[in-house]
Amino acid sequence: MENKRDYYEVLGVAKDASADEIKKAYRKLAIKYHPDRNQGDKAAEEKFKEAAEAYDVLSDADKRARYDRFGHSMGQQGFPGGGFSGFNAGDISLEDIFARFGDIFTGMGGGFPGGGFSGFSGGQRRRPQRRGSDLRIRIPLTLEEIANGVSKNIKVPTDVPCEHCKGTGAKDGTAFANCSQCNGTGYITRQVRTPFGVSLDQAPCPACQGMGKTITERCSHCSGSGIIHNDEQVTLNIPAGVSDGMILTMRGKGNAPKLGGVRGDLQIIVSETKDPELIRDGNDVIYNLMIDLPTAVLGGGVEIPTIGGRARLTIEPGTQPGKVLRMRGKGIPDPERRGVRGDQLVNVMVYIPEKLTAAERKMFEDMKKSENIAPDESNKKRIFSRLKHIFE
Ligand SMILES: [Zn+2]
Ligand SMILES: [Zn+2]
Repeated sequence: MENKRDYYEVLGVAKDASADEIKKAYRKLAIKYHPDRNQGDKAAEEKFKEAAEAYDVLSDADKRARYDRFGHSMGQQGFPGGGFSGFNAGDISLEDIFARFGDIFTGMGGGFPGGGFSGFSGGQRRRPQRRGSDLRIRIPLTLEEIANGVSKNIKVPTDVPCEHCKGTGAKDGTAFANCSQCNGTGYITRQVRTPFGVSLDQAPCPACQGMGKTITERCSHCSGSGIIHNDEQVTLNIPAGVSDGMILTMRGKGNAPKLGGVRGDLQIIVSETKDPELIRDGNDVIYNLMIDLPTAVLGGGVEIPTIGGRARLTIEPGTQPGKVLRMRGKGIPDPERRGVRGDQLVNVMVYIPEKLTAAERKMFEDMKKSENIAPDESNKKRIFSRLKHIFE
């Protein structure tokens, strides 16, 4: 992973900055390093992308909380090979940035006094690209799938771009004419009265919805919408160690917008299916084991469930109820620390028979008279101190 600057440092805000402060800081940087202002300046473009990446994380309460906890490792590093990523300046295009945060550039005439009429020099303004809506699906996962990671092929009903018109809605993707209302710019300019006087503001052209073009002949395959509703085959690579409620984002796998633009995201919500025998506790797995009285006294082998299947467990002679046996590394991989796995904890309980035959009753009555049956003060003390975890 490359050396990344701290996101708060990138935006020049304090760790406890409000959402509004973060937005303002990003807007300032986005204007300063906007590609229209810095034609061909690679360094400015990198700064522009870096700011967008920082804003992507810090403007989302969820991502911000994760970033505060885990820093830059919250992204790919945490889920090696998972195929899910946040927003990463390395592989992001300017179009993506405009599609996601394009709204930050609108209405700047009033908001930035002295910024000039559009906020950018040259007047050649990029139109914010349309972006399709996000999709959310819930994926049920068994404990075993969570522990090992899993790849799933699913069908997602999605609006995908019509291939006949390349999502434009125009016949063959070419039946366009320049919009006559805005002369193909996609924007109209209006005068806006503010308490500080009259300023000029740009708004998307209502005739062409900011496209700058109008369709002269509609695509017959999608009735001119540019999208087709389809079951799309998607491969989900779920990394090991995810937990219930976690959201994994697959960028560009959501709905396509009408008439072209970038696709939204597909958000996968992890839904952990309750295991009938094992209880998840963070990265550990708990199993409540009940053994019979003779096994607790004499020792023996029992078979228990684990994530990888059934396993033999040895019970030592004289095992007390409440004892916890730890099976190291038999838990769930830690998604944040590579190679670290939780344990399986086995809570040992001893079954006390509830119904007795006459012969059994006799056996216990005889046992009561036997010399090693009642605890004395010293073994009580020793056992209680070992079972501290139960009482505290
Ligand atoms: Zn127009
Ligand atoms: Zn079409």
